[in-house]
Amino acid sequence: YSSTIAQLPPDPMFGLKARYQKDPRDKKVDLGIGAYRDDSGKPWILPSVRLAENLVQNATDYNHEYLPIGGLPAFTAAAAKVILGKDSPAIAEHRVVSTQSLSGTGALHLAGEFLRDHYKSAGETAGETAPPLVYCSNPTWGNHFQVFGIVGVPTAKYPYWDDASKSLDLEGFLKSIREAPAGSVFLLHATAHNPTGMDPTPEQWKKILKAISDHGHLPLFDSAYQGFSSGSLEKDAWAVREGVHNKEYSFPGVLICQSFAKNVGMYGERVGAVHLVLPEHDATLNSAITSQLAKIVRSEISNPPGYGAKVVSKILTTPELYKQWEQDLITMSSRISSMREQLVQELERLNTPGSWRHITRQQGMFSFTGLTPPQVAQLEKDYGIYLLPSGRASIAGLNPSNVNLVAQAIDKVVRN
Ligand code: PMP
Repeated sequence: YSSTIAQLPPDPMFGLKARYQKDPRDKKVDLGIGAYRDDSGKPWILPSVRLAENLVQNATDYNHEYLPIGGLPAFTAAAAKVILGKDSPAIAEHRVVSTQSLSGTGALHLAGEFLRDHYKSAGETAGETAPPLVYCSNPTWGNHFQVFGIVGVPTAKYPYWDDASKSLDLEGFLKSIREAPAGSVFLLHATAHNPTGMDPTPEQWKKILKAISDHGHLPLFDSAYQGFSSGSLEKDAWAVREGVHNKEYSFPGVLICQSFAKNVGMYGERVGAVHLVLPEHDATLNSAITSQLAKIVRSEISNPPGYGAKVVSKILTTPELYKQWEQDLITMSSRISSMREQLVQELERLNTPGSWRHITRQQGMFSFTGLTPPQVAQLEKDYGIYLLPSGRASIAGLNPSNVNLVAQAIDKVVRN
């Protein structure tokens, strides 16, 4: 081995989790990882998942055979309908190429490799062979840069969060779209932006999508939290469906990286899909793209994992289970909203310096609290409360028995 293999620091998220697990204090609170917890702070197996698991396991044809390279066809077809809608014209017109992936991360990885090898970037159009440039929001989920970096796709940042107003920097975002080389890729968080919890309004989305279309860019929606913002799968897919179905826009294609980790709570089963929506029906192109995606999957993982895909496709294709799932999403999203409200009420009751209402304006699993890195470090050291140095807190880690304690600790570190 080379003597120069560098020791890398632990992953910020998984490193935080390891410190939390080692902490012997009883009242410690994990606001790090984006995984849903119930009112008693425990992981939650969704009732719809339990029912589906029973059906899958008790079926006479239940086994652990390999799935096809492209995944379970019933799953990928139903997954496309969840994000694009049951009556999606794009699906009806056979314009959607779908393949199963290792959850959302695997979908992004596949999308990155596909873009690198098959998408004509601005540079290539100009006679060079530069890979496409993927623009990510500033800030974004930290792994985005690493996932694209490892497959050799360069990334850039577009302004997103305005710290002063604790809201979306729409002007900065639009300017960056106008100035990016034509043919760039804009990575958009479909809903429940991670880490800020701040999504564009429908009017703002229209401006963003129009600008991406006018400047010849390709939108890539990262959909990891459908159902977590509003509790409604339909409402949370609004931006994706607007981009795909509104004929005012014309894109070279729309990529969707879809994760079922959070919205069915099967984090470790790695259930996801990548969908490429083509601008028009082209059976030859569709089949060629399918074959290229299959080549990547075959060489990297041979075929995707079966169990989670079977469970999720059972939920998606069984009307009673689908209804139960919709109910489960309401249970999770409304518990998170009520924790946001209680946290802010307690901070207001304590007259904690600063304004905190942005926490209830944000949605999804996370809040960008505005706490500074030293305040975050003090929360961990003095109170056993763990969140990312950026001040991002996973609101799912709050519950009725710790929310006031967390507010009181925040009050102390802010006054310090
Ligand atoms: N995108 C975003 C924005 C995320 O927050 C996450 C999970 N933290 C993912 C993608 C991927 O998650 P997974 O691979 O577990 O589906």
